[in-house]
Amino acid sequence: MLRRAAVLGVVLAGLLAGSAHAELSAEALPVNRPVTTPMVRSLETVAASYWGRWGVLPPPGAEVFLGSFTQLGGQIAVAELGGHRIWMNGNLAAARWAPEGPEEARALLCSVYIHERGHNAGLLDNDGYPIMEYGRANFTPSICREWATTH
Ligand SMILES: [Zn+2]
Repeated sequence: MLRRAAVLGVVLAGLLAGSAHAELSAEALPVNRPVTTPMVRSLETVAASYWGRWGVLPPPGAEVFLGSFTQLGGQIAVAELGGHRIWMNGNLAAARWAPEGPEEARALLCSVYIHERGHNAGLLDNDGYPIMEYGRANFTPSICREWATTH
């Protein structure tokens, strides 16, 4: 189900089965814990490569913050539509960012990151790009599977 969201709103990632778009107030989301690890910077490189192939340019200067399930409306991740900020669920992110974590989890994290950067670029869920269709068999691109084997 596709529902248009306000251009300046914050769009939930829609990562839970059956969830529809909902909107959160960006002012209510935490911005005091930006994540600036090398892994996040490498994810940005992967996202730029992925979107470059589609001719999509997410806004530069991505900022990644951690939030609780409650803060993120029960979602894995939230992105600023047309902005540059991303919020990841802290507990899930911590597990998936662990270098010793399973490759599949890291590949999913990579896919979610690219998905959220797509929202930053102004794209909505199910907007015609495979990565914007969470839950589809081809959601995780090969570039993320490759990334997961080395991070
Ligand atoms: Zn989404």
